[in-house]
Amino acid sequence: MKHQDVIIIGGGLIGACCADVLTGKGLETTLIERRFPASGSSRACDGLILLWDKNPGPEMALGQASVGLWENLVPQLDGDVEFRQSGTVLVAEDEGSLERSRQIVADIAAQGITATLLERRELQEIEPALAVDLAGGAIFPQDYQIDPRRATFSILRKAQRQGLQLLNGEEVIELRRHPGRSGGWEAATQKHVYAADYIVCAAGVWTTKLLHMLAIELPIRPRKGQILVIKAPRDLIRHPLLEGGYGDAVHAGTDDLQVALVAEMTPAGTMLVGSSRQFAGFDTDVSRDVLQALARRATRFIPELARAQWIRSYAGLRPWSPDHLPLIGPVAGFEGLYVATGHEGAGICLAPVTGELIGEWIAEEISPSLADAISPGRFRDYHPEP
Ligand SMILES: Cc1cc2nc3c(=O)[nH]c(=O)nc-3n(C[C@H](O)[C@H](O)[C@H](O)COP(=O)(O)OP(=O)(O)OC[C@H]3O[C@@H](n4cnc5c(N)ncnc54)[C@H](O)[C@@H]3O)c2cc1C
Repeated sequence: MKHQDVIIIGGGLIGACCADVLTGKGLETTLIERRFPASGSSRACDGLILLWDKNPGPEMALGQASVGLWENLVPQLDGDVEFRQSGTVLVAEDEGSLERSRQIVADIAAQGITATLLERRELQEIEPALAVDLAGGAIFPQDYQIDPRRATFSILRKAQRQGLQLLNGEEVIELRRHPGRSGGWEAATQKHVYAADYIVCAAGVWTTKLLHMLAIELPIRPRKGQILVIKAPRDLIRHPLLEGGYGDAVHAGTDDLQVALVAEMTPAGTMLVGSSRQFAGFDTDVSRDVLQALARRATRFIPELARAQWIRSYAGLRPWSPDHLPLIGPVAGFEGLYVATGHEGAGICLAPVTGELIGEWIAEEISPSLADAISPGRFRDYHPEP
């Protein structure tokens, strides 16, 4: 195969969005995926595109940019990716949690995002299936839902129409400098050796393994999450629901299992019930104990779920980063090598802006304004606690 401009490694939603932007800007691009598109975390997740959970500063800036990009991108996609502005409801179990919701509403409104506090009675009117003893909550009408797996496939089809070469079933087992070309790279799979000027490592939690081949260490850790899929009446809940403590679970750096309610309906009439967070290496086995903990938590908020039928379950790995910001950009000292990972539980939301940033660096050769905040090199002096 002829020398390419760019090789992207990883066919999840992040790799797909990078491929879309790079091919859209006219670069000859190949994407290498070891299994099939969305075979990693981008099919083992929820599909929430949330703004209210983003911290002010770079994270919120990335989120707001990405939501705008999603709104532009979806009309250009073929097939139904189930993109809908369903809003989300934050549910407060007690007065303390309601107080936190009040603070979140104030903080989010200050960022120009619509948010309304709900007293107990208002919450019941909006979501009648919720337990009657809940203290209240908040509604964020601007949030979206999407089907991440369908979106990955559809974005890759768009990129293919723009010239993307998509290689499935090939695993990159070696990354090395091109021997005869300054600044160039080679990516070897079991079948072939591919060459390009730029490499984008968008291999999710497995990016660390790829970069390890070059003696580059990133502090990304797989943070396992399990989802229980249940059969539920289509209108049992009207918005995706998250409990007030969800943000604490996200930001807790602890190795202990975190369980906080996340429930969303799909157009197929199933409810996805999450979510758990746990550091368990690269293990994706489903634990019945964790599923039971998810079901108990969900039933606390939506009592009718006690009678619901479990259909299936799955586990995925969030690419956790120590400061809760992704790692996007060039790797210092390795000209032409880029990273796009570390989005933890926000990779679906942040995929389009990630593609856009990679496009700015590689195709337009400009360094985006947020470059320092998301630089893969910012952890050079990071030492995890023992
Ligand atoms: C339970 C759960 C719920 C979540 N809910 C949400 C949510 O509601 N909203 C949100 O925004 N985010 C959510 N996330 C996070 C989101 O799923 C991830 O951030 C996102 O999917 C990461 O996408 P990615 O493309 O980086 O990684 P992946 O989708 O994992 O893609 C990486 C790809 O690289 C491939 N690969 C790996 N190594 C190689 C190699 N050597 N050669 C070739 N290919 C390779 C893999 O096969 C894989 O397909 C959730 C995650 C989980 C686990």
